[in-house]
Amino acid sequence: MLGLMQDWPLLIHRIIDYAARQHGQREVVSRSVEGPIHRTNYSQIRERSKKVAQALEADGVRLGDRIATLAWNTWRHLESWYGITGIGAIYHTVNPRLFPDQIVWIVNHAQDRMVLTDLTFVPLLEAIADKLPSVERYVILTDRAHMPATKLNNAICYEDWIAAQDRDFEWADFDEKTAAGLCYTSGTTGNPKGVLYTHRSNVLHSMSLVHQDALRISASTVVLPVVPLFHANSWSLAFSCPMQGAKMVMPGPKLDGASLYELMEQEGVTMAAGVPTVWAMLLAFLQKEGRKLSTTKFMLVGGSAAPRAMIETFERDYGLTVVHAWGMTEMSPIGSLCAVKSSLSHVTGEALLDLKSKQGYAPFGVDMKITDDEGRELPWDGKTFGRLKVSGFAVTKGYFGSDENILDPQGFFDTGDVATIDPEGYMQITDRSKDVIKSGGEWISSIELENLAVGHPDVAEAAVIGIAHEKWSERPLLIVVAKEGRSIDRRNVLSFMDGKIAKWWMPDDVQVISEIPHTATGKINKLKLREEFRDYRLPE
Ligand code: AMP
Repeated sequence: MLGLMQDWPLLIHRIIDYAARQHGQREVVSRSVEGPIHRTNYSQIRERSKKVAQALEADGVRLGDRIATLAWNTWRHLESWYGITGIGAIYHTVNPRLFPDQIVWIVNHAQDRMVLTDLTFVPLLEAIADKLPSVERYVILTDRAHMPATKLNNAICYEDWIAAQDRDFEWADFDEKTAAGLCYTSGTTGNPKGVLYTHRSNVLHSMSLVHQDALRISASTVVLPVVPLFHANSWSLAFSCPMQGAKMVMPGPKLDGASLYELMEQEGVTMAAGVPTVWAMLLAFLQKEGRKLSTTKFMLVGGSAAPRAMIETFERDYGLTVVHAWGMTEMSPIGSLCAVKSSLSHVTGEALLDLKSKQGYAPFGVDMKITDDEGRELPWDGKTFGRLKVSGFAVTKGYFGSDENILDPQGFFDTGDVATIDPEGYMQITDRSKDVIKSGGEWISSIELENLAVGHPDVAEAAVIGIAHEKWSERPLLIVVAKEGRSIDRRNVLSFMDGKIAKWWMPDDVQVISEIPHTATGKINKLKLREEFRDYRLPE
């Protein structure tokens, strides 16, 4: 027997409808690309996103069409997402930090019909536009006063584009499984792969994460989403903030410590979300200038492993609660968060820091397991490493434009990460499966060595790669960058690490370089590092 509840499709525009009705005056503040701080609210965002929807329709965009955005976190980018999805078209976030050739590849693969771009990226697009035949129009996210002279095809400024529309528009009606968003993985091996979110997966994913043990977003929260909308669906914040009526503070193009600090203080930010690199910049600023955070209480850090020392410093010196999260583009993206379960409330001091350095446990909607190479499940004992596999309502089952089955016989997706899970369910990433160092038939976690090394007072950033070794097959090489004004002594770093890890995990050497290369999503680019150290030989 079927129940008698209403069909109420989980469509993204319901979120902005709700926000406008229940939290219409709640502010969305942005640092605009043009410079000044801009203020709007959910009511106006809804009105203007309806105009975006109309403008798209007037340009012939239909259900299922892809619309690229190359843009920072601002109110216009947010309006674009709601406008695009409101007619059943698909927002395709393009990461502007990718190489131009990768952008060309992605836009052609997605067959984007339009590109909505910030002023920042107009020169980049002008350089590649002749290789983007599917793009019929470029909308520049600015007003007439700032509109540049450009040869981009059919270019129009956003404010003129939407001003031509009235606000009397009904959202389209369609199945909740309709595609809503497209985001390509950064593709460190091979070509990038497109992950295609649905309305349903985005709504459920956001709903399942707003609570106290996850994003902690309520109507009184003031959220600073430093994580860009173009990076893994902005960790759901573009949906979960309006869903709760939280104030949004959008940093626009300025992600340096001083600019973020200014916004946090001026706008009363209570919760901030971003990758470790961004928080390292903020921390360096706070320490250098001797500043404190007066309103921020909660920090979410993820996207790559949060160093233990960073968690410790923000909690001890700045009074924050730091929650470490893990996820990936393929998971919409959040897969685990490290809140403290009541069974562990007695844990304090170093043991608590050990716990908080883990990537955490899965929220409702994510099933997790670790397996060996043959797919056999491994125990949750906190020691056994295995391939981390996941399933859930916001986990991908395939890639855009490909028929390949990517799930195991039980329907789980292999994340490509290697992890342990402890008896309490806390997962800890030991490595990407391709980065783990295989020494004498055992595995060494490069992430753990990196985390330890950045705890040294002279080390700003650390990366560990495996170097071929005749006897052990691979041995770890520690590569470090010194903090500003400091110099690094190899022996001193090694003796700092001594005793904190198994003897055979000790790096065979330390190399100091001026900069560690990063990928477009801010992760350490190990592929590049391995290339740079191709001819390097370990000391005898
Ligand atoms: P992306 O799809 O670009 O977000 O990359 C996803 C990958 O980033 C994951 O598969 C992990 O390898 C890595 N990652 C994300 N969050 C963390 C974290 N908290 N700790 C370690 N690695 C992480």
